[in-house]
Amino acid sequence: MVLTRPGAGALEAQARDTPIALPGEVLVRVSACGVCRTDLHVVEGELPHAEIPLVPGHEIVGVVAGLGDSVTDLAVGDRVGIPWLGYSCDECEYCKSDRENLCVNARFTGYHIDGGYADYTVADARFVFKLPDGYTDAEAAPLLCAGLIGYRAYRAAGDARRVGLYGFGAAAHILVQVAAYEGREAIVFTRPGDEGRQQFARSLGAVWAGGSGEAPPEPLDAAIIFAPVGSLVPEALSHVVPGGVVVCAGIHMSDIPSFPYALLWQERQLLSVANLTRADGDEFLALARRQPLRVSTTRFSLAHANEALARLRAGALTGAAVLIP
Ligand SMILES: [Zn+2]
Ligand SMILES: [Zn+2]
Repeated sequence: MVLTRPGAGALEAQARDTPIALPGEVLVRVSACGVCRTDLHVVEGELPHAEIPLVPGHEIVGVVAGLGDSVTDLAVGDRVGIPWLGYSCDECEYCKSDRENLCVNARFTGYHIDGGYADYTVADARFVFKLPDGYTDAEAAPLLCAGLIGYRAYRAAGDARRVGLYGFGAAAHILVQVAAYEGREAIVFTRPGDEGRQQFARSLGAVWAGGSGEAPPEPLDAAIIFAPVGSLVPEALSHVVPGGVVVCAGIHMSDIPSFPYALLWQERQLLSVANLTRADGDEFLALARRQPLRVSTTRFSLAHANEALARLRAGALTGAAVLIP
């Protein structure tokens, strides 16, 4: 729901006219919303079942402006974050086995539920996170998907010592710091010839950065593919050791070309990571609290959301794009 911008007035006064429909909902005044590649896939119709008309945006930082009657663990004025997972049913087999990321009844923010390209948004309070101090609203926004789902992909790579990251956008620029912090070697692949981004990767702790298509200095124990480019799958498989893993971290990817079985042979694994659980969020935000992460943002006003999406599409952003209402 996009509310029009109110005039002067206290949060409480605004909250009197809240669109809260259910007792478990929370009204949030948006202060920043990250622009994620998934938004681009939604806007361009590459994902099925989007509920149109729709307000995109699932990396939402804001301030609680109203509460449903049954919400007890949040207060008006709290700074909160709203992630991609907006609802899970708690009843299906996936929910009952701690895999609510795969819930058959899941609803996602900015896809099934109106999101954060807005002045205000309404969320199910059970899926809202409190955010670590030490990050501005704009810096905290990319933590909510790029950081959080990126971290789920990073964990899926196991205890790899040498981790390849294909695509150096919002997620990888956070994950390269986590890898360095944990004493792992991060090897970064950008679009060929993107010297600026390779230099940026090295400045954040990558031990090597080059273009995709280049061989890493030594074989990789694992690789994570953030770029939505299917041809990177056989490329990454060709550089991981026997028993190594290749993780596809995006929600959408161009078709994967056929490749010789020899690339998968010797117990190499290829898998994808989907969505997040609330436990992922708690774990990653605790890490972000312990280990200060440098979050690089390019800020746009809400009115320039289309420009932000266009620059993301063109690969012309360093770090993460963030909309400021
Ligand atoms: Zn479920
Ligand atoms: Zn996202």
